[in-house]
Amino acid sequence: MDFTLSPDFVATREAVERLMVEVAQPAAKIAEREGRFPREAVARLGEAGVFGAAFPESVGGSAQGFQAVGLISETVSRLEPGFGYCMNLQGMTCPLTIFNWGREDQIRRFVPDLIRGRRIGMFALTEPGGGSDPAGNMRTTAKKRGDRYVLNGSKMFITFSDECDAGLLFAKTDPSLGAGGVTAFILEPKTMKGYRADPISMSGLSRAFRSCAVFLDDVEVPEENRLGEEGEGFKISMTALEYGRLTVSARLLGLAQACLDAASAYARERVIRGQPIGRTQSVQQLIADTTVNVEAARLLVRRLGWTMDKGEAAGREAAQAKYFASFAARHAADAAAEIFGGYALADEYPVRKFTGYIDMLNMGEGAPAVQRTLIAEDTLGYKDANRHAPRRRTSL
Ligand SMILES: Cc1cc2nc3c(=O)[nH]c(=O)nc-3n(C[C@H](O)[C@H](O)[C@H](O)COP(=O)(O)OP(=O)(O)OC[C@H]3O[C@@H](n4cnc5c(N)ncnc54)[C@H](O)[C@@H]3O)c2cc1C
Repeated sequence: MDFTLSPDFVATREAVERLMVEVAQPAAKIAEREGRFPREAVARLGEAGVFGAAFPESVGGSAQGFQAVGLISETVSRLEPGFGYCMNLQGMTCPLTIFNWGREDQIRRFVPDLIRGRRIGMFALTEPGGGSDPAGNMRTTAKKRGDRYVLNGSKMFITFSDECDAGLLFAKTDPSLGAGGVTAFILEPKTMKGYRADPISMSGLSRAFRSCAVFLDDVEVPEENRLGEEGEGFKISMTALEYGRLTVSARLLGLAQACLDAASAYARERVIRGQPIGRTQSVQQLIADTTVNVEAARLLVRRLGWTMDKGEAAGREAAQAKYFASFAARHAADAAAEIFGGYALADEYPVRKFTGYIDMLNMGEGAPAVQRTLIAEDTLGYKDANRHAPRRRTSL
C-alpha cells in the first residue's frame, strides 16, 4: 500500500493551483461583482485540461483517471469553490454520462466541447416534489410525436440551467410507471423554444454560478437527442450520481481543507490576553479534530477514485466518502466560525462563503440521510451497495 502521490499527480495539482490563482480567482471576483457567469475563465480551464481527466485522449481528455478527478476537484474547490460546480457539470455528471451511455455520434457532438468548457452543461433531475426520491416524484413528461418528444413540466435547483448549451434532463415517457418510466434527454436549451430558467435567490451562494427553477412548456426534443433507450433514464441518472459523488466528496474535502487553512492562519495571528489564540487548549482541540477529519475524508475520497479506476462497482465507497466528507466539512466550517469569532460573519473573511458552499454540497448528489440509509442497508446485508456493475466506456 502506497499513500504517496505520484510525481504526475503532484505536477497536476501544482498546475491546477496555478490556474486557480491566475485565472479562476480573479475571474470569480469580477463575475461575483457583476453577477455574470465567467464563461471565458471556464473555457480557459477547460482548454488547460482541468475537466478532462476521466476521458480518453480521443475525445479531448487526459486519461488520468478518477483519482486525478478527485485530486483536481479538491484543489479547485479549496481555491475557488464556485468553479467546483464545473468539475461536476463540465467534467463528470453531464459529459461522462453522455460518454458512457451515448451513441458515438452523440459523444463526438457533445463531449469534447463540454470538457473543453466551450459549451456549458447541466444535469436536470430534481423536481419541486423532492430530490430524495427523484423517480417517485417526477412529474415532467416526454410525449413522443413523430420523430420528436414534447416535454412539459418543471425542475428545481438546476445548476447552470440559465447558461446551458447542452445538458441532460430526465422526464417520464411513461408516467404510469415509477423508475421504469424515466427517459434521459440531451437538451440544447438555446435552440429549443418553450424552455425557461429562473435563477433562485440563495443567500450565502454565488451570484455568478447560479441554480435555477426550470420550466418546460411544449419543448420539442429530436429523437436523436434521447440518451439510451426509453425507460433507461433512472438507471442512467443513478450511475451519474455515483460519478458525481466522487467530485462532490472531493469538493467538500477541498472546502474542509480551506476552512482548516484559514482557521489555522487566523489562530496563529489573533492575539488575545497576550498570546495567539492558537496557544489555547480549546482552539487546539478544534484544530486537532478538524485535521483528523480532513485526513480521514481524504483517504475515503482517494479510495473511491481508486475503486473507480479499477473499473469496479463503487456505490459503497461513494456513499461512505460523500457522507463522511460532508460531516468533515460541516465540522470544519463550525470550527472555523468559532475560531474567527465575530469576524466569521464579515465578508472580508471567507468563512461565510465556505459555509454556503458546504451547505449546498451537503444536499447535492444525495442528502446525508440518503447516504446513511445506503450505508446501513449495505452493512446490515439488506441491500448490497455495490450490486450494480458500473457502466464505463474506456475508449472510443
Ligand atoms: C444550490 C443547489 C444546487 C443544486 N443543483 C442541482 C442540479 O444541478 N441538478 C439536480 O438535479 N439537482 C440539484 N440540486 C438538488 C439537490 O440534489 C436536492 O436538493 C437534494 O437531492 C435534496 O432534495 P430536496 O432539496 O428536494 O430535499 P427533500 O428530498 O425534500 O429532502 C428533505 C430532507 O428530508 C430527508 N429525507 C428525504 N427522504 C428521506 C428518507 N427516506 N429517510 C430519511 N430522511 C429523508 C433528506 O435527507 C433531507 O434532509 C441542487 C440543490 C441545491 C441546493
